[in-house]
Amino acid sequence: MTLLVIGSIAFDTIETPIAKRENILGGSAPYFTYAASFFGPVQMVGVVGEDWPEEYTEMFRKQGIDVSGLEIVPGGKTFRWSGKYRENMNDRDTLDTQLNVLGHFQPKLPEIFRRAQFVFLANGAPSTGLAALEQIQGADLVVADTMDLWINIARNDLDVLLKRIDGLVLNDSEAKMLTGELNTISAAKKILNLGPKFVVVKKGEHGSLFVSEYELYLIPAFPTENVVDPTGAGDSFAGGMMGYIASQGNLESETIKKALVYGTLVAGFCVEGFGLDRYKEINREEIDRRLVLFRKMASF
Ligand code: AMP
Repeated sequence: MTLLVIGSIAFDTIETPIAKRENILGGSAPYFTYAASFFGPVQMVGVVGEDWPEEYTEMFRKQGIDVSGLEIVPGGKTFRWSGKYRENMNDRDTLDTQLNVLGHFQPKLPEIFRRAQFVFLANGAPSTGLAALEQIQGADLVVADTMDLWINIARNDLDVLLKRIDGLVLNDSEAKMLTGELNTISAAKKILNLGPKFVVVKKGEHGSLFVSEYELYLIPAFPTENVVDPTGAGDSFAGGMMGYIASQGNLESETIKKALVYGTLVAGFCVEGFGLDRYKEINREEIDRRLVLFRKMASF
């Protein structure tokens, strides 16, 4: 089934305690699409500037990603983001955000994208997500991501968006910030009152939680020693999760649990390299080998 993502496309400068990379391909949409592409076809909508190398477009095409929703703004500059990780590799500080073409992004969905059954509004301004939803007819499932920035500066738009989506994916700290609750479960339940039918709370190295009115599932993170660059883990998690759900075409409890596991595993691969590097070395078979290992670790 078709999976559509609308999100940011960036040139990231990332500094970890051991290395630094400048202007590497990042953004919520590339991480999401790459992660989802291991499970089926993905359609990507995003905006870049004239500084966008054609080879990146080719790279997405080769991975089976439909890039006909990629807008290249003549004379424009691609969104740039820069972050620095602390010693623990979990906490990071944003050093710089230059919205550039992303600041005026009005998504224009190609005709065929408007009939997507599964839609993910990756991290970006809630108004961008709303503008995209205006163009989509009758999707089976709409899920969005958000972050502290939008909770702080675009709360009204976010509240409108929350009423139009089926699911929300966000970090533990963001769920607490959005609701004022100190307990993760209470925060997730309060978000259900704001609109979504389910909430997925990401807790970094402590895994993730799926909460709906009648369900609560808990999935640990895949234990990995080799964390090179945690950037994009959240978007990759969402990509693996939505990619698997779209491949199954239903939201039965077994599908949801396995989707959370696939999201976890793909995010685990993502952090083993800078940017999208690790994704270029793996395939679905390798992900499924980890699934077998993960099942042995987590079953009791
Ligand atoms: P994550 O590590 O999953 O939070 O995702 C990091 C990615 O989000 C980076 O590649 C950034 O380019 C992108 N990003 C950072 N800030 C924003 C923002 N305000 N809006 C959209 N994307 C962003």
